[in-house]
Amino acid sequence: MEYEAVIGMEVHVQMNTRSKVFCGCSTNFHAPPNTNVCPVCLGMPGAMPVLNREMVTKSTMAGLALNCTISRWSKQDRKNYFYPDQAKNYQISQYDLPLCHDGNLEIEVNGVKKDIGITRAHMEEDTARNTHTIGGGQSGVDFNRAGMPLLEIVTEPDITSSDEAFAYLTSLKQILAYLNVSDCNMEEGSLRAEANISVRPKGQKEFGTKTEVKNVASFSGTAKAIEYEIKRQIKVLNDGGEIIQETRGWDADKNRTFSQRQKESAHDYRYFPEPDLVPVVMDDAWEQSLKDSLPELPAARRARLEDSTGLSPYDVQVLTATKAMADYFETVMDQGADAKQAANWIMGDLQKLLSAADQDIMDAKVSAVDLADLLALIEDGTISGKIAKEVLEAMFETGDAPKKIVEDKGLVQITDTGAIDAVVEEILANNPTQVEQYKGGNEKVIGFFVGQVMKATQGKANPKIVNEALRAALNA
Ligand SMILES: [Zn+2]
Repeated sequence: MEYEAVIGMEVHVQMNTRSKVFCGCSTNFHAPPNTNVCPVCLGMPGAMPVLNREMVTKSTMAGLALNCTISRWSKQDRKNYFYPDQAKNYQISQYDLPLCHDGNLEIEVNGVKKDIGITRAHMEEDTARNTHTIGGGQSGVDFNRAGMPLLEIVTEPDITSSDEAFAYLTSLKQILAYLNVSDCNMEEGSLRAEANISVRPKGQKEFGTKTEVKNVASFSGTAKAIEYEIKRQIKVLNDGGEIIQETRGWDADKNRTFSQRQKESAHDYRYFPEPDLVPVVMDDAWEQSLKDSLPELPAARRARLEDSTGLSPYDVQVLTATKAMADYFETVMDQGADAKQAANWIMGDLQKLLSAADQDIMDAKVSAVDLADLLALIEDGTISGKIAKEVLEAMFETGDAPKKIVEDKGLVQITDTGAIDAVVEEILANNPTQVEQYKGGNEKVIGFFVGQVMKATQGKANPKIVNEALRAALNA
């Protein structure tokens, strides 16, 4: 029998507000355990939560970027359960009236575009962190994470493959990073993806029983886990077995999922409205002001740059991967640089230097304006492209302006035909064999001569003039 996969994603995004969602404690990830705590996030009886306004602002911006409807009236609810990571015995979340709902995100897989429906995006607080590695058979609880602001983004079951899941996660992360609502740091748990996966015979309307895969450390790991889970479920069904609704973990070493626990249904949490918090009322003016504050989003930026630069979709994709990269590229172009040239240097030599130094473009000592100046020096013939690579390396090291480096190192291109002629004459005199070969019809030796002249001038001779001078002398 032929099966198809049905996948929905839930992503928890830690928002980068300065303080926690219901108290004034810092959200600094690197603080020592249990130092960013207060009666509210420790769950002391009688402590009263207050909703962080910035959390509502950033969550609304994310919702707008995902084409969601923003609720005019939304509220917080208590999700009741007992666990050491939740001292209050309930988590404050949003149940039936989320802040954002009914949106979509366009993804692209192998050139095919598809909309993934966004069911909802709701605000909630993170739980504390249980640590089972402190030794001596003991576990610890770090309440620094309790009350960290989370936005949970839930999709419709529109995803049908691990490739689509990967594309969705990548696009979502890119949008959130463009919006600057989260640092999107996966190692620090700022983005946590869960996938609900089921399979059904092709053409069948009803969903199969789903399993949930969570706590995977990377998007590529999530995609692999989904791929594995689809195959596993199909095999179970083909062998006459039944899928059990459960949470499954991902073993990255063995490349397989494994059963963790059977899943609670929503009613087990006995949700009810949080009585200590007022509802969030969003009016048109507030929503409009947030709409106006949205930056140009990745898809719009890609379309505009493809149009205005004539670069390939692939190049534009690389250049807009992050907002910082796209800003850098556009600044270089604003200085008058040619788009293709700018793209080649940023994606080629500069990226190579950045990767080798494990640096982000934001931290590079080479400013966009300086890179544009370097390209101008090539354009007006002051230096050759080859010398420019050397200059860029020096710029990357020192942060000096290209003109200063060219002057300090005496790298100005030799365009004086008299000087080049003299070198050409000497090279020809020293290599009579190759001269004979050229005269015998072997045009290729011209490359040898060019190489010799460049070597003699430390790469500073203008290659075009060298070529002309060589041919003139050889043909004389
Ligand atoms: Zn607190």
